[in-house]
Amino acid sequence: MDQFKDSMLKLITETSTNLPPDVREAIAKAKAKEDRGTRAALALTTIADNIEMAENNVSPICQDTGLPTFEIMVPVGVNQITMKKEIREAIAEATALGKLRPNSVDSITGKNSGNNLGPETPVIHFEQWEHDEIEVRLILKGGGCENKNIQYSLPTDLEGLGRAGRDLDGVRKCIMHAVYQAQGQGCAAGFIGVGIGGDRTSGYHLAKQQLFRPLNDTNPDPELAKLEAYVMENADKLSIGTMGFGGNVTLLGCKIGVANRIPASFFVSVAYNCWAFRRLGVVLDAETGAIKRWLYKEAAESEAAAKEVAASEAQPGTGRQVVLQAPITEEQIRQLKVGDVVVINGAMHTGRDALHKYLMNHDAPVDLNGGVLYHCGPVMMKDEQGWRVLAAGPTTSIREEPYQGDIIKKFGIRAVIGKGGMGAKTLAALKEHGAVYLNAIGGAAQYYAKCIKGVDGVDFLEQFGVPEAMWHLQVEGFAAIVTMDAHGNSLHADVEKTSLERLAEFKEPVFA
Ligand code: SF4
Repeated sequence: MDQFKDSMLKLITETSTNLPPDVREAIAKAKAKEDRGTRAALALTTIADNIEMAENNVSPICQDTGLPTFEIMVPVGVNQITMKKEIREAIAEATALGKLRPNSVDSITGKNSGNNLGPETPVIHFEQWEHDEIEVRLILKGGGCENKNIQYSLPTDLEGLGRAGRDLDGVRKCIMHAVYQAQGQGCAAGFIGVGIGGDRTSGYHLAKQQLFRPLNDTNPDPELAKLEAYVMENADKLSIGTMGFGGNVTLLGCKIGVANRIPASFFVSVAYNCWAFRRLGVVLDAETGAIKRWLYKEAAESEAAAKEVAASEAQPGTGRQVVLQAPITEEQIRQLKVGDVVVINGAMHTGRDALHKYLMNHDAPVDLNGGVLYHCGPVMMKDEQGWRVLAAGPTTSIREEPYQGDIIKKFGIRAVIGKGGMGAKTLAALKEHGAVYLNAIGGAAQYYAKCIKGVDGVDFLEQFGVPEAMWHLQVEGFAAIVTMDAHGNSLHADVEKTSLERLAEFKEPVFA
């Protein structure tokens, strides 16, 4: 097994940087369904460009490289202790090479281990089988979509749908609700894995395992196959759209598995995955650990699908395009409206959960008056020339909702950039203090990294770790869409309201 570690490094790198053909094909189909000139079409074009850039640069598709989860099948007699050790070494090496962001933090203190290793990270599951090869499957699932996983205990009452009972129709309602509640926060359009039954723990595991199924397979259970087809036919009617911008495509895949349960419990567990659906696999020689073949890469149309998604055409604008140089004035901000595309040049500062909490009770290390705050935890590398940004897409903004309004007021921030939108408290602060929320395209980490022309410095690196540190960046041509303006308008609130109305149309039983 002298080649095993090298094979794992290849698997990790390929999974992080090169989306599988079936996922590319699903995104290409979504692009074809969106009308030109819409916000969703613009987002999908950016996503397509980003996918190609990541592959060409061999850099992470999204800056959130997630929690690596390995599912491994081994012949009897293979040494799992050695394999585990070498997987951990490969993870640390991939992190040092910038293929993974350091993402493993102490749950209590928040201290980042710096190499993606820690208790239960990475996650590694072994099973034995009666074959003489080793199969390793890997999924990198980021936090934005992980936070939109949801578990239902039936019977239950669901917003918009009413009672979901202990039957297949109850399951149907849960799945439709799961898509609705994710809105754009999990970087829609997404893929869902559903686990029916089990207990709370095994139900989620079953749901995540469904994400390993190829997108074009057919469920062997005819009832579940029907339910999968129903969900795929109807979820798009919620009109949540890419990034929650509204649009014709909301869901790219639905796979459902079932396990037995105990009579007292009936769980439906849903694992939501963003468009950056990074899962791959390899089959290895059990003697040497060398890669014999790749999984998920054999689809007949793979070449064509890859080309199709890459062939993005320029999209006409979705509204006004306004170029702003930071620092920005209140007057400039109050002229912006939901739908405008803003192109930012100049200084931008990153800030996530740890920084927002800190700023509530401390001064900022730099002047933020008129400034641009970017919800982003980038992948960074340091060399002789200094810091380089390897990946820098937006993170989910709603986590900062408890702090954002106060921080806008305290520091005079004029623009907050993130993804998925924010709530009523932030919307009120935007109006009162003259600021906007700009939605960047979630997962487009290569696309935005290219707009960053320099790193002016960093604060709190030791204290908070790479993703949570405050990076001071110089950007050029950084484009994002105004989705919450200083006049009290929120595209996110509008899409949520419309999608709830649409959800209610699925109240009547279908699988009675
Ligand atoms: S694409 Fe969005 S949800 Fe997915 S890992 Fe990246 S930031 Fe998170």
